[in-house]
Amino acid sequence: MHRPERERAESAARQEAAQLTARDVRAVALTWVDNAGITRVKGVPTARLAHAARWGVGMSPVFDVYLTDDSVVTSPYIGGPTGDLRLFPDLGRLTVLAAQPGWAWAPADRYEQDGRPYAACQRRFARRMAERAAADHGLRLRMGFETEWIVTRDDGPNGGPSYACSGPAYGMARLVELSGYLRDVLDALAAQDVEVLQLHPEYAPGQFEVSVAAADPVGAADLAVLVRETVRAVSQRHGVRAEFGPVVDPGGVGNGAHLHLSLLRGERNLCRGGDGPSGMTAECAAFLAGVLRELPALLALGAPSPASHLRFKPSHWAGVFACWGPENREAAIRFVPGPPDAEDQANAEVKCFDGAANPYLAAGAVIAAGLAGIEDGLTLPPPAAGDPAVTGGQERLPASPAAVLDCFLRSDVLRAALGEPLFEAVAAVRRAEVRQYEEAAPQEIADATRRRY
Ligand code: GLU
Ligand code: MG
Repeated sequence: MHRPERERAESAARQEAAQLTARDVRAVALTWVDNAGITRVKGVPTARLAHAARWGVGMSPVFDVYLTDDSVVTSPYIGGPTGDLRLFPDLGRLTVLAAQPGWAWAPADRYEQDGRPYAACQRRFARRMAERAAADHGLRLRMGFETEWIVTRDDGPNGGPSYACSGPAYGMARLVELSGYLRDVLDALAAQDVEVLQLHPEYAPGQFEVSVAAADPVGAADLAVLVRETVRAVSQRHGVRAEFGPVVDPGGVGNGAHLHLSLLRGERNLCRGGDGPSGMTAECAAFLAGVLRELPALLALGAPSPASHLRFKPSHWAGVFACWGPENREAAIRFVPGPPDAEDQANAEVKCFDGAANPYLAAGAVIAAGLAGIEDGLTLPPPAAGDPAVTGGQERLPASPAAVLDCFLRSDVLRAALGEPLFEAVAAVRRAEVRQYEEAAPQEIADATRRRY
C-alpha cells in the first residue's frame, strides 16, 4: 500500500468512525482467517480506526502456522517469533454488528510493514485469482457459501453438550422450537444488509442451514465469515452454542459449507444456454472439469481438517465421489441447471467442502483449478446419476487426510496459484494436523474440533 492510498483510507476511515460513534459503536473487529480455518481478530477502538486505516494494525505472521488447537508449527517461509504484519481494514465492507452491540466488523488485508502486499495473505489470494479470471479469460465469478451448524446447550450429562431442539430433520417442529432464535438470526443478518435466501432445519439433530445471495469471490468469503460470526453471536445471546465443525457426531451427518459458483462473461451466465452437458457452455464445462481434476488436492483447502474425513461418508450428501451430476447430491460437484427461464440461477455446487475451510483459500483455489481446466481444454466426463454408493462406477475422493495432503503436495496448479510461502504454510499446518490426530478415535477428533471454527 502506497502512501497516497493510505492517506485516502485514513480520511475515509475518519468519516466512517464519526458515523460509527453516532451509532454507539465503540470498536471495530478486524478479522482474517488462518490456514487452519480459524477466524482470528484484532479489535481497535472506533477512535483508532483512522489510524488503523493509515498504518495498519500489527500482527505476527506466525498465525499462518497455527493449528486448530492453537499450537504452533513452522514452515520454510513462515514461523517463529520475529516479524510483524499490518492488518488493513477493508472499509468497503465495514459492518455494524447487530448481535454484538457496540461492535462493528471489517475483514482485513495483510501487508508487510514496508507496504508491500504480504505473500501469504489468503484474502489477497482470492482476489488475485478473481483478477486472473478477468485478465486472462474475461471471466467473472459469482459465489456463495452455505452455512450449516448444529445448535447445542451445555446441559447434557456431566455438563456436556445436548442438542438445543429435538424436532425431526427438516421438521417444522424444529423451527417452532427455536423460532425466536431463528428470527433473531434473520433480523441480525438483515440489519447487516446480508440478503438471506433460505433458512431451514437440516438433517442432523439440532442442525440448521442459512444460505445468502451470491457475491464476487472475495465478497462471498467475507460473507461466510460475517454470517458465521453473526450466527455465533445470536446463539450466545440465546444461551446456546453454534457448532460449525465438520462433525459433532462421527456416526451421523456432518456440517458442510458447500460452495456455489457460476461463471459469467459480462452479464451472461455461462452455466446455461450452451451446447455442453446439461446445457452449460463448453467453457463452463472445462472450468468444472478443472475443478473436478483438482478436487483430491483441493480438499486440503476445502475440507482441510482430520474431522472433515469423519464427515466424508457415502450416502450422507457430503459429495464424497469424484464426479459431477445434475442435481445429484451425492456427487462432489452438483450441477444446478435452474429453471429454463431463469438466467441467473444455473450454478455448480462444490458439495465436499466444509466449515473447517478458510473460505478465501477455498474460493481462490477453486478458481485456479477451474482456469487450469479451461487452459488445458478439459471436457467433463459423463454425469453421475443416482448414488454412486449404490450404482457403482465412480471413484471416491481420497479417504484420509494423509492421502489428501499427498495430492495437495503434488498439485502444481495449487502450488503455482498459492505461491511458495502460502503453499508451504498450508502444507505445514496440514502435515501437523495429520500427525496430531493419527492415533485419535473419531469421537476424540470430533470433540477436539466441533467448537473451534
Ligand atoms: N450436511 C450435509 C453435508 O455434510 C449436506 C446436506 C445438504 O445437502 O445440504 O454436507
Ligand atoms: Mg444443507
